[in-house]
Amino acid sequence: MKVIYVDNNATTRVAPEVVEEMRPYFGDLYGNPSSMHFFGGQVQGKVEEARERVAKLIGARPEEIIFTSCGTESDNTAIMSSLAANSDKGGVVTTRVEHPAVKNVVANLRRQGYRVIELPVDRDGNLSMEDVAKAITEDTVIVSVMWANNETGVLFPVEEIAALAKSRGVLFHTDAVQAVGKIPIDLAESQIDMLSLSGHKLHAPKGVGALYVRRGTRFAPFIIGGHQEKGRRGGTENVPYIVGLGKACELAYRDLEDQLQRVKGMRDRLEQGLLERIPNSIVNGDRDQRLPNTLNISFEYVEGESILLKLGDKGICASSGSACTSGSLEPSHVLRAMGVPFTAAHGSIRFSLSVYNTQEEIDYILEVTPPIIEGLREISPFWTGEMAKSCTAS
Ligand code: PLP
Repeated sequence: MKVIYVDNNATTRVAPEVVEEMRPYFGDLYGNPSSMHFFGGQVQGKVEEARERVAKLIGARPEEIIFTSCGTESDNTAIMSSLAANSDKGGVVTTRVEHPAVKNVVANLRRQGYRVIELPVDRDGNLSMEDVAKAITEDTVIVSVMWANNETGVLFPVEEIAALAKSRGVLFHTDAVQAVGKIPIDLAESQIDMLSLSGHKLHAPKGVGALYVRRGTRFAPFIIGGHQEKGRRGGTENVPYIVGLGKACELAYRDLEDQLQRVKGMRDRLEQGLLERIPNSIVNGDRDQRLPNTLNISFEYVEGESILLKLGDKGICASSGSACTSGSLEPSHVLRAMGVPFTAAHGSIRFSLSVYNTQEEIDYILEVTPPIIEGLREISPFWTGEMAKSCTAS
């Protein structure tokens, strides 16, 4: 069966060019970048090239990039480091819709006595700048707000929030794991102090990430050990994966226009097509302020898990809620925070595309999905034909 992979916010295929670039570093080039001899030096040079490639994609300086093991480590490091480096205060401001890599860190901090404010979002998943301004106090150390939501693709105005935080003398971190490589990012033009990214969301392997830390930011390492990464993150560097991340960032830089045009075009066609063909379907999240690749759509009165199984029978890999929450029948914390009604939240499906998807695949999804929803509604105890609203496409 042909696999139609539209779950790229969960993880992405490793680009063949990335695999090729990594290969020598599993073989003959196995030196330790910290070694003084030429054999280590060769490897060190490649790690530095990767650092330059990551920096270029986000408009940073290479020395502002710290390699980590994943997006989760980057998020943990940003928050814990800022608290350790500013121990006279204890306030953290974040949102209700963060990924567990931030959400569960701040929950833990709250249990330890830190003062955490989680900002609400509206029905479209947007934040209020007024709420952000009110939440920042004398006690606040860090504001951590994700750039793009992994479930809905909704983009937060992080540059505006960073400027506000700076004007109040507060650090600003953004979890940009879903944003990097999908939208243009130029940190040189922003006031963002720290930014997290993850390799496996942009066609590098799982298990490598990076944290951007603006030059001059007070920083305390989270992983304490050797002098690697200029003493900012202990542990011998995962050289092949770092090389892979560098290559993936180079490709993402090259493909950015394709994301913004072709991938967005496919996503829009999928969205419009599903809305036209399936009554009682609702797009979750602001349709303008959104990643180009993500569509979160609810089919009322059906169960997301059942839809996923049926789509899976047809070779289509999508997601209900985020990968981390699937397996539980609770509607996701993101849709709950947005106030999506129960009947819709349960039938929500996330399609997330990549540059590897094709128009033919979109045609196929549009062909097979409507009969799946119709069939499931026929056996749904909550659905009667009279409920059908006219199609909501616009
Ligand atoms: N932040 C966001 C927004 C994510 O979507 C993810 C992964 O799904 C992470 C953080 C965690 O990244 P990683 O899987 O590299 O730890």
